[in-house]
Amino acid sequence: MSSPLSSTLTLSNSEPDHYSLESRRTISRMLTSDEELTCSIYATICALKIEIHWFYIGCTKCFKKVNQYFNPETEESEADKFTCDTCQKIVISTISRYQVHVKTKDETGTTSFLLFDKEVIQLINKLPYELLEQQVQFNRRSELPPEIQTLENRQFVFTIYKPSTTKNFRPTTFKVVKITNGEYVD
Ligand SMILES: [Zn+2]
Repeated sequence: MSSPLSSTLTLSNSEPDHYSLESRRTISRMLTSDEELTCSIYATICALKIEIHWFYIGCTKCFKKVNQYFNPETEESEADKFTCDTCQKIVISTISRYQVHVKTKDETGTTSFLLFDKEVIQLINKLPYELLEQQVQFNRRSELPPEIQTLENRQFVFTIYKPSTTKNFRPTTFKVVKITNGEYVD
């Protein structure tokens, strides 16, 4: 089946920076390194973390997560008002954004990646609000949308950012900054 999806991915595959030898890592090598690095890992999505929301409500200016506004006078939350810590103000208009947590594996180990808007839209060609509308329409609000479920068992080259780590700071989830469906080329 040919879909717009494959053409998007073919386009990304033409970018050569993903295939450089220096930036590629296995999961085990990435996890055991203490240095800050951006690297590419060829891995399979082996599970989707359904216990964590697949989207968040973001600020339309900075795209960071917003919080429900708590009115100190009435001591109640207000449903249509939010606060953005980054912009330091009350916001009325918001935007839903993807945050899809996936468990991945390669032949050396497993780890967790976090996919954001750009990558998820690239993979499923739908915006978060479209999926949210569908979930409401089909009365499956508490489930993971089928479009996201189709990511399970697929293989990608994930370019991830790993901060420098110490004995007391070892993150277990890494942010994906780019994704392609290509394999490494020697
Ligand atoms: Zn903001």
